[in-house]
Amino acid sequence: MKPFKLVINGSLVETSEYFDVLNPADKSVVARCPKATEADLNNAVAAANTAFESWSALDISERRELLLKLADVVEDKAEEFKTLLTKEQGKPLQGFANLGAGFEFEGTLNWIRTTANFDIKPKIIEDNDTVRIELHRKPLGVVGSITPWNYPLLISIWHIIPALLAGNTVVMKPSEMTPLTMLRFGEVAQEILPPGVLNIVTGAGELGALISSHEDIQKIVFTGSTPTGKAIMKSASGNLKRLTLELGGNDAGIVLDDVNVDDIAEKIFASAFINNGQTCAALKRLYVHESVYDEMCNALTKIATSMKNGNGMDKDTDLGPLQNEQQLNIVKELAEDAKQRGATFLCGGEVVDEKGYFYPPTLVSNIEDGAKLVDIEQFGPILPIIKFHDVEDAIASANRLGVGLGGSVWSQDLIKAQRVASRMQCGTVWINSHAAVLPIAPFGGVKDSGFGVEFGEEGLNEYTSVHTIHIYK
Ligand code: NAD
Repeated sequence: MKPFKLVINGSLVETSEYFDVLNPADKSVVARCPKATEADLNNAVAAANTAFESWSALDISERRELLLKLADVVEDKAEEFKTLLTKEQGKPLQGFANLGAGFEFEGTLNWIRTTANFDIKPKIIEDNDTVRIELHRKPLGVVGSITPWNYPLLISIWHIIPALLAGNTVVMKPSEMTPLTMLRFGEVAQEILPPGVLNIVTGAGELGALISSHEDIQKIVFTGSTPTGKAIMKSASGNLKRLTLELGGNDAGIVLDDVNVDDIAEKIFASAFINNGQTCAALKRLYVHESVYDEMCNALTKIATSMKNGNGMDKDTDLGPLQNEQQLNIVKELAEDAKQRGATFLCGGEVVDEKGYFYPPTLVSNIEDGAKLVDIEQFGPILPIIKFHDVEDAIASANRLGVGLGGSVWSQDLIKAQRVASRMQCGTVWINSHAAVLPIAPFGGVKDSGFGVEFGEEGLNEYTSVHTIHIYK
């Protein structure tokens, strides 16, 4: 396969160094990826700055039209994008509950189209005999986007589309683990977008650090781990960049005593094992009332043991490998700690296939707060199930960690569930669901899960500055 190229100022650009991108299902090389130099980044930022003048001057309806066309040309290449996603990320083409590469790809199209149809209108704050006060919103300039490896296409779209719709231009860096899908997306986008409006540069953390400290970038939108988010916040201070930080979480789900286990077990399993657990807002700690605990453990075990692990290109694969060796090692370490504490492994817990980064779906009961598997985000296919007696203890457990991305409450009594939900310290709470993000509903974290929101009108506004006009009559 030919090496991929950077996308800068409407052109495909070669660079001096390349690195291999591996397929996590068998460690084979998917393709060679360019390693952008500082000079490449400077060219991309300069092109984005130049393009900003004419792109921001377009009417929002003209930018909308181009973004909707972009969705159409991407849709025409559906099979190519899904295959590339599966090869570099590992997720199955289809997967259990249709939550594989097809899900990410369809979500991408839906997100582009829904977001492109948002509007930014002036708001009249006051209009009386003497004064009229109008609030306008202006684009910021060049937005730097840095993304992780779990949803290479979808998370990048979450950043890029609202930034462009609002009139900004973008320099984006996908994760070095999964850079290919976005290099190809950037290439396809050049058929529609003017040169310099969307630039894609690839490389590791050093390149991300150069982006976050670049003096000609006005905002960073980052999705990834909390330590990297903190490093970005420090290096972005030079020119007071605006920041949206979507960081790690460790979402708790609380199952109350009145649930019908059969009705919710599949939904809970999918919420925890979506993308093999490598999902920011997946359910990562399950607190279950003692009266339904054994029943819930049995129902989840039945589902987990029916899953087929394998290469995502095989049609009957339910769950693929983890994306990388480092994440596999984190999962193994958390499992080891749980074993040493005498927790019960209801299924999984041992690596059986070493040709890729595989770990079987694993459920762990008889475990408590304080175990590494409960306290540290696993970001993998292993779920601790913790028994509780008093719902006050479950709420305290859910809130005791330093992160707060999402959470859920499961009950047939929606009023009781909402009372519990309102006390959970996190950016989003679902009742009888988990991890279901939508382009119309603002999403973001509290505490060490970051700040700022994506999606909806609030998310779009984060790509603008407020421009207030007072008109004295
Ligand atoms: P990561 O922080 O290691 O890397 C994310 C991106 O940051 C990559 O592109 C990487 O190259 C870049 N980077 C690394 N060091 C940098 C630096 N010093 N300056 C600037 N950029 C730098 O995260 P990851 O391992 O790719 O992703 C997993 C983590 O992401 C998990 O903790 C997960 O919870 C979190 N995540 C959060 C969300 C959310 O919406 N909140 C979504 C997905 C993933």
